[in-house]
Amino acid sequence: LFIAMEGGDGAGKSTQAQRLDAALQETGRTVLRTREPGGTPVGEALRTLVLEHGNGEIDARTEALIFAASRAAHVQQVIEPALAAGTVVVCDRYVDSSIAYQGAGRQLGTETVRTLNEWATGGLQPDLTILLDVDPERGRDRRTAGRAAEDRLESEPDTFHQQIRLAFLEAAQTAPDRYLVLDAGRPVDELAAAIRRRVEELLP
Ligand code: C5P
Repeated sequence: LFIAMEGGDGAGKSTQAQRLDAALQETGRTVLRTREPGGTPVGEALRTLVLEHGNGEIDARTEALIFAASRAAHVQQVIEPALAAGTVVVCDRYVDSSIAYQGAGRQLGTETVRTLNEWATGGLQPDLTILLDVDPERGRDRRTAGRAAEDRLESEPDTFHQQIRLAFLEAAQTAPDRYLVLDAGRPVDELAAAIRRRVEELLP
């Protein structure tokens, strides 16, 4: 089972990925929690490359290709082998993040970025995508409280984050039964319970 965790900056994805990981392990499942971009030595290096250079230094196409390259490595070296071994994979960000950030935010076009990523991933889609829908203003408060050092988009205006939010919601509408859309402003425990219930329904 392949689960992707998506949402804007400050949505609480990592917290919910950890909670889901712990809940599944308690029921005896083997879980792999991994993150995008990254998850492989090459992917982590690409992540560092992107994070160390501001938006001004990397043009949008280069950025989209770096994320897609990182994802290709991640899928082939980490995700597919784990799925083949029967592991539940919980991935912090996947293709929808590129569609939202590079496609909508950086205006490359959501369809172009979708196509690029279909190629990069060999068409591998999550069985379920959990979208933590966050209001950009609220997300900003959490971002600055959290790990501003990793936040390369701090200088982007709220309109940028608003476009990203809409693109995530649009992606969810393309295949509603493969998405669980939740209001990221709800209490952490409530979100964790809703996610756990939905994932349990999908497990054999
Ligand atoms: O996953 P995480 O939130 O740690 O991502 C690090 C930074 O990279 C964030 O600022 C995020 O918005 C950005 N990002 C991006 N394009 C992606 C994925 C992440 O600009 N496709």
